[in-house]
Amino acid sequence: MEAFELIFLGTGTSQGVPVIGCNCEVCTSSDPHDQRLRTSALLKIAGKTIVFDVGPDFRQQMLREKICQIDAVLFTHEHNDHVIGLDDIRPYNFMKRGGIDVFGTKRVLNEVKNRFPYVFDPNPYPGAPSVNTHSINEKDSFSINGLGIAIQPLPVSHGGWPVLGFRIGPVVYITDAKTIDDKVIEAASGCEVLVLNALRKKEHYSHLSLSDAIRISEKVKPKHTFLTHISHTMGLYEDVSKELPDGVYLAYDGLRVKNTGKTVLQ
Ligand SMILES: [Zn+2]
Ligand SMILES: [Zn+2]
Ligand SMILES: [Zn+2]
Repeated sequence: MEAFELIFLGTGTSQGVPVIGCNCEVCTSSDPHDQRLRTSALLKIAGKTIVFDVGPDFRQQMLREKICQIDAVLFTHEHNDHVIGLDDIRPYNFMKRGGIDVFGTKRVLNEVKNRFPYVFDPNPYPGAPSVNTHSINEKDSFSINGLGIAIQPLPVSHGGWPVLGFRIGPVVYITDAKTIDDKVIEAASGCEVLVLNALRKKEHYSHLSLSDAIRISEKVKPKHTFLTHISHTMGLYEDVSKELPDGVYLAYDGLRVKNTGKTVLQ
């Protein structure tokens, strides 16, 4: 198996945890596991660094994890909590002296263009963020420059809204799914690590609940499942963690999952 390191940059739903103005036990918890920036993750594999989504907390996440290199950004979908940090890729432009490769479906890339017109101006102002866009589709696998591993898009439905998950060798990353069809379950099966969204215990129209996510995990049968995109209404990290089946974990910000022969959590 290809060695990898997966870093959870953020594991919170769109408002983050704590939620502004909320005094619930999770939002006021002193346990750092209950403080969640917006959902994003970074995968180091085969010498490359791939980031899933660039949300509003991107700058803070990159500083915290001391990330000096990004080879590609993969967009899952265009919701603000997944794209709005794009302006903060500028330091990587300076370090690389070039544009960052970003991948998304045509629809997502068009929406990113609408949100950041100055990035795509034919005559951008000096210092504007620079990206090289790569249009992908839900059917065809693709790769990033020099990776040597095929990336398989995994189309899922976010309450009717199309979202892409990705399989990169032993790692499957799926966020903002409500329904996942059997084809995708099959494409994900046998992975070492499955990342899956789980918003809260109660049913939600566009996100998997905790029990939905556990059910999907039982079908995919990965070695380890990490739940992300978590709301304050899920409950305390410590309490919910005790209720989970073996091999299923609530992810938390800063969690590192490494595999150099055996998967370990750090
Ligand atoms: Zn989201
Ligand atoms: Zn709260
Ligand atoms: Zn979303």
